[in-house]
Amino acid sequence: MTAQRTIPFSPPDINQADRDAVCEVLQSGWITTGPRTKQLERELAAYAHAAGCATFSSATMALECALRALGIGPGDEVITSAYTYTASCSCICHVGATPLLCDTAPGSFEMDYDQLSTLITPKTRAIIPVDLGGRMVGYDALFAALKRAGAEGRWHPAGENEQAARAEEKLGRPIVLADGAHSLGATYHGEPSGSVADMTAFSFHAVKNLTTAEGGALTWRRGLFDDEELYRTFMLLSLHGQTKDALAKTKVGAWEYDIAFPGYKCNMTDIQAALGLSQLARYESLLARRHEIVAAYEAGLADLPLEIMAHEGVDEDGQPYRSSAHLLIARLAGEGEAFRNAFIEALAARGVASNVHYKPLPLLTAYKDLGFSIHDFPNAFAQYENEVTLPLHTCLSDEDVAYVVDAVHEAFAAVSENGS
Ligand SMILES: *Cc1c(COP(=O)(O)O)cnc(C)c1O
Repeated sequence: MTAQRTIPFSPPDINQADRDAVCEVLQSGWITTGPRTKQLERELAAYAHAAGCATFSSATMALECALRALGIGPGDEVITSAYTYTASCSCICHVGATPLLCDTAPGSFEMDYDQLSTLITPKTRAIIPVDLGGRMVGYDALFAALKRAGAEGRWHPAGENEQAARAEEKLGRPIVLADGAHSLGATYHGEPSGSVADMTAFSFHAVKNLTTAEGGALTWRRGLFDDEELYRTFMLLSLHGQTKDALAKTKVGAWEYDIAFPGYKCNMTDIQAALGLSQLARYESLLARRHEIVAAYEAGLADLPLEIMAHEGVDEDGQPYRSSAHLLIARLAGEGEAFRNAFIEALAARGVASNVHYKPLPLLTAYKDLGFSIHDFPNAFAQYENEVTLPLHTCLSDEDVAYVVDAVHEAFAAVSENGS
């Protein structure tokens, strides 16, 4: 065995240019929402081929504000995957709508679109799919399942405000709001995340591919909404409902403002945006390095009964996809929770941090309390019970990756001997 290393799970990759960009803002005299935030919104919209982009304090708030901008609230139903992080569902609870959970398809991390179609009711106002690990879901199959509900008369446009009504009418199905927390830079059939779902929320949390420490953004598709009006709504929602942002209000003599409604407070700051812009400038090279590491893992672990989620290839319909290589999601084929948990400990003993993405929502107290039971989500449980996520980030050297590959082999052998 080689000398022990410590391999963290997902440290932020911050370079000198990032530090300089943040220092510049600190010295500029303007540190909250201002020119850098607006520039980040423009650059993200362009990068994602989206009609528009609004930034927020987190992806969670981006999701919540998206639901609010569509007038979704009490009496409405929103469907998301049982196999996700709480934020995909808590946003539904925050706005007072009713969350419905969909099981994954057998052997898949994506929702079962046949089941999804049966969950659609006249009250369904939005679907929140999750681009797990940075791989965009099968949007064509998702859209088709939703359209089927409309064609079969189980759903019809009934959006509660003008934006939602207009979009539903155009689409002939409920609005798809992607949890793209992992998928910035991913493509589906050649189209970037942010331009495929009707709306997409990105996360810039410290562990994500591109970070602003905390932060998020929402993009929306071209030709679906009144873009300027939607952007204005997001600015109001994220800043008290105030008709002028702090920068505009600070201009000499321009003190006058109104509060359109008692809004929220979840705007991004220029300090965060400067970090985001600096990261975005080198994001393509970060993605390339991530894919290099995925390839090294795939080659190094090919001899083990470890099923690694694919990050690049062609779909069943022959169209290409490429993920953002956010998470190295692997399954210990044929094993259960006890083996997986022992495997994680064996990796930890070798200095390698790993994780589980995700514990299905029905296993968590909050969602049990809402009446969900894991027994109704057998496929999600089967994906979860032997899932392990290995370190995948741009602070890993080739030697680190080789070390993790060795550690995985050793851990696998050790747990196989002891356990079953
Ligand atoms: C990180 C994450 C979020 C939440 O992002 P925040 O920016 O922390 O709010 C939502 N969904 C998924 C799948 C995530 O991994």
